[in-house]
Amino acid sequence: MSDFSYHPAGDCVPDRPDLAAALDAVNRDLAATLPEAGPMRLMWTPSDDEDLPDQYHVALPDGRRHGDVQDPDAAGVAEAAQETVQAVLWQVWPVCREHHTGVHANAGPDEWAVWWCRAGAGHELCEVGELAQTLPGKQRRALRRKERRREA
Ligand SMILES: [Zn+2]
Repeated sequence: MSDFSYHPAGDCVPDRPDLAAALDAVNRDLAATLPEAGPMRLMWTPSDDEDLPDQYHVALPDGRRHGDVQDPDAAGVAEAAQETVQAVLWQVWPVCREHHTGVHANAGPDEWAVWWCRAGAGHELCEVGELAQTLPGKQRRALRRKERRREA
């Protein structure tokens, strides 16, 4: 065991609201397509060496995680979430419905992130956080019903 301590975001990452927002987007996508994996938590390992950056991790609700956020930006957070889902839950997520293959987090416009499918010439699936829009109508309606129940 290392003597690092891990803190969930919110308590201890007040200076990185961008990463918290990136995680919110990922959690919206998990709620839509892989609810058992979310909501995920952003964790933080402060660096005790001023030459090294702090490290961030994306963990399952129970704290299990794999790897680190390589680039502390929106795409990096989405990528780290994917890595945790893949390594801990053995799930490829998310999947392009058209090509039945796993997609990848890419940097999109305005420092936002997109899910990118590498099949064929490659295409953008959607912005991270908008995966619900790619579901077939029936699933999308069921999801909206569920959300309305949660709000009620
Ligand atoms: Zn595709």
